[in-house]
Amino acid sequence: MRPTYLEVNLSQLKQNLENIRKHVSPAKVLVVLKANAYGHGVDGVAPFIAPFADYIGVAIVEEGIHLRKLGIATPILVMGGTLPEQLPDFFEYDLTLAASSLDLLTAAEQLAESTRKRLKVHLKVDTGMERLGVREYEAEPLIEKSMACSHLEMEGIFTHFANAETSSLRGRFCSSPEAISNFVGDCFGERASPRNDEGFVESSLQLERFEEVLSIYEKRSEPHPPIRHTANSGAALLLPESHYDMVRPGILFYGVYPAREIEKNIDVKPALTWKSKVAYSKVTLPGRAVSYGSLWQAEARTRIVTIPCGYADGYFRRMTNQARVLINGKSYPQVGRICMDQFMVNVGEDGVSVGDEVILFGNGITAEELADWTGTNEYEVLTSIGARVPRVFVQIA
Ligand SMILES: *Cc1c(COP(=O)(O)O)cnc(C)c1O
Repeated sequence: MRPTYLEVNLSQLKQNLENIRKHVSPAKVLVVLKANAYGHGVDGVAPFIAPFADYIGVAIVEEGIHLRKLGIATPILVMGGTLPEQLPDFFEYDLTLAASSLDLLTAAEQLAESTRKRLKVHLKVDTGMERLGVREYEAEPLIEKSMACSHLEMEGIFTHFANAETSSLRGRFCSSPEAISNFVGDCFGERASPRNDEGFVESSLQLERFEEVLSIYEKRSEPHPPIRHTANSGAALLLPESHYDMVRPGILFYGVYPAREIEKNIDVKPALTWKSKVAYSKVTLPGRAVSYGSLWQAEARTRIVTIPCGYADGYFRRMTNQARVLINGKSYPQVGRICMDQFMVNVGEDGVSVGDEVILFGNGITAEELADWTGTNEYEVLTSIGARVPRVFVQIA
């Protein structure tokens, strides 16, 4: 096997799920397995965790099909956007549709009627993301239609928060929405539009809008769909009133908190360790520059070792001259530009040899650090670990 690999501790993931469940009970838990289980390797994670999950969430229908082909029998909600031509796959693989428009719901009902097949549906309401779903002020026709869809099983209704993990920032950093918005943008060097400050949408407002939609059922003395859900990881942690009948933790299930300044009132721990081995070891002379662009120069004789992993594996080029790794348990700086398939580390006077173990991530090197070195967030760090890196699944309680 490749010396560069990802070790994924399935027992830790199960523990994370149990701790989340304890916190949100009696709400059910939908485990989000999109994006290759946030980089952890869905082929190993899904079969192990599915028996403990009430529901599984994926982003795209292809991910749902992949899970069914792995033999997963747990209900699967495809949360992202679906095109009408993808609908037959939902029937064939027993996937739950997020009906985000009247057209999609109508097409699904017609197909269910003509094929005489069952389809579970969750209505998608947009309360502030402006991404997918009908807005609270236009939800009535969708709900009316759903009540008339006799061939579909109306199982759920849901919405998604734009700022769940920043709820705790209010009062801590600042009092005004515009200050929070600027803070959020500044974190990752993202550029907010000039009028961004006026649009900051609080989770409390989104919940009000969601309630407004639910009241449509009440007005008609009709029961709402049995599974109402809104909470991602941030809301699972911070907003008990958002838990409803089910929560949808993604990053928290993987043991990483969705923001730095967040109340860590659910005990979860990361489950992965990115390992490699020293592939080359030599002493570099003073004045010699390392790697493309010659961005780092040895000032004195120093041992430079080469690690067989690069940006094609998701070890971001942006971390050049910033990242640190552990070799034989000691922390060393990465030096010179990170290449596609390799990078170099300065181990100074220490005796480091070919074959010595290197930790790129885990065992004390956190997703937060990698995100900082890269100028991104923890989500992007996890989901960028490349397909070329083998995943090894272990169970260490
Ligand atoms: C990705 C996703 C989640 C999980 O988000 P986390 O912040 O990782 O918990 C929940 N709901 C929807 C609709 C998503 O797309």
